[in-house]
Amino acid sequence: MATQEEVFKKVTSHAKEFGFVFQSSEIYDGLSAVYDYGQNGSALKKNIKEYWWNAMVQLHENIVGIDASIFMHPTTWKASGHVDAFNDPLVDNKDSKKRYRADVLVEEYIENKLVAKINKEVAKASKRFGESFDEAQFKSTNPRVLGYQEKIKEVENRLKQVQEDEDMTGFKQLIEDLEIACPISGSKNWTDVRQFNLMFSTEIGSVSEGANTIYLRPETAQGIFVNYLNVQKTSGMNLPFGIAQIGKAFRNEIVARQFIFRMREFEQMEMQFFVRPGEQEKWYKYWKDIRMNWHKAIGFPDGSHRFHDHLKLAHYADAAADIEFKFPFGFKELEGIHSRTDFDLGAHEEYSKKKLRYFDPETNESYVPYVVETSIGLDRMFLAVLSTAYEEEKLDDGSERIVLKFPPFLSPYKVAVLPLMGKDGLDEKAKSIVNTLKFDFECTYDQKSKIGKRYRKQDAIGTPFCVTVDYQTLEDNTVTLRERDSMEQKRVAVHELANILSEHVNMKNVLKKLV
Ligand code: ATP
Repeated sequence: MATQEEVFKKVTSHAKEFGFVFQSSEIYDGLSAVYDYGQNGSALKKNIKEYWWNAMVQLHENIVGIDASIFMHPTTWKASGHVDAFNDPLVDNKDSKKRYRADVLVEEYIENKLVAKINKEVAKASKRFGESFDEAQFKSTNPRVLGYQEKIKEVENRLKQVQEDEDMTGFKQLIEDLEIACPISGSKNWTDVRQFNLMFSTEIGSVSEGANTIYLRPETAQGIFVNYLNVQKTSGMNLPFGIAQIGKAFRNEIVARQFIFRMREFEQMEMQFFVRPGEQEKWYKYWKDIRMNWHKAIGFPDGSHRFHDHLKLAHYADAAADIEFKFPFGFKELEGIHSRTDFDLGAHEEYSKKKLRYFDPETNESYVPYVVETSIGLDRMFLAVLSTAYEEEKLDDGSERIVLKFPPFLSPYKVAVLPLMGKDGLDEKAKSIVNTLKFDFECTYDQKSKIGKRYRKQDAIGTPFCVTVDYQTLEDNTVTLRERDSMEQKRVAVHELANILSEHVNMKNVLKKLV
């Protein structure tokens, strides 16, 4: 059986081969951690966006959407804390000249040197004791395992301490004490550890006018905060209400890998929900549930998601959790739900010297609202959908097929219309079917190659239905309808197609599960 890593490699190359994701500017050998979405990828991405937007904005009368600029006044990022604190600790190996995140080096040490040793001891003992092996008991009594566990705790504590104290000298000492070597050069010849700000900066205005450094936004949330009052005043909404936005964000990630999981240019779908101070806990729980339901309604296998509640909170948060998804490389953060208190609006009040308050008609008080945020990476969601959909199947006749079992409402195309032959009027009939269906469904038309090959091609891009037009169609106006997952084929009348498709591919059916 293929390892998870092999599966992930296959998903990545499938994504390229079938027009989902390309490396950016590939003809120039690409740009690290930057990707382009191809013809099928952009369609899938659009459908995911729509599912999020409709679930958040269309289904909630008290949520509206905005579209703020990527460039913002530079003081925004001072107020938000990004100028001073949006840093990762980095360290270079002097021999390989490779750059690493210092915290990642230490975490990998724990995983590869300590956790791996515990796993090895467990595997050995399990083989020795066979059926009667009690893993929990073994782990809590075996002296070697206990020793490794003790060491893990010690390293984790030191890591936490240097991070909290922002002690870069202590960080380097930790790497040296653990004798961590560069995976490429094998040497322990490290530079000092230093803080590296993840924001990209550029200049606005010409130098003669007095250029000003501005940043490419590292999150979309601040575009919502600075517009809080504009939206509240012009919409007349009362608390609680939310503002949603989908847009690009940029982070100069040091460790950029795992395909589109960690990119330097990516897209976020964020919603800030403004609430009365004191009610944040209730709304935090509410949004945790609502967001988990959104993920589950898609129809992923059971056990694909879990919550990870944060114990260590950012300075502005009073509660935070991630929704983690079972990616091919393990459970990782897909979405964050954060109770951000009045930190952001309060900071913008202070820096802008403008009141960002809400006058509560019920209590006759004026205050800075509290905020509960839901923030999901669109590209990570894309990866979750794509990697779960990918399947290699052995068929009864001994052949194999690769099929993307997308939830039909997210598929780039809902139906492919295929004339058995590209002649004798079959092609015209097929095109006329496309012309009636295309107002309601994303359709594709293909008349090249043998029909079996064309089915495989549609399987590989996840089209849930194929409609085949043959000579009988010209006589009785029926077609063969082939379903992607079961590969079942049945004869249906052309006039029935729209109803059948609606029943199976409409986003509406999934959205209805959310209310
Ligand atoms: P991580 O810990 O993985 O770096 P984060 O906690 O910094 O993520 P947030 O700042 O909470 O992430 O951003 C919200 C969401 O944006 C994340 O849950 C993730 O889905 C997405 N995201 C963040 N950074 C990236 C990135 N570099 N590439 C793609 N998506 C990202």
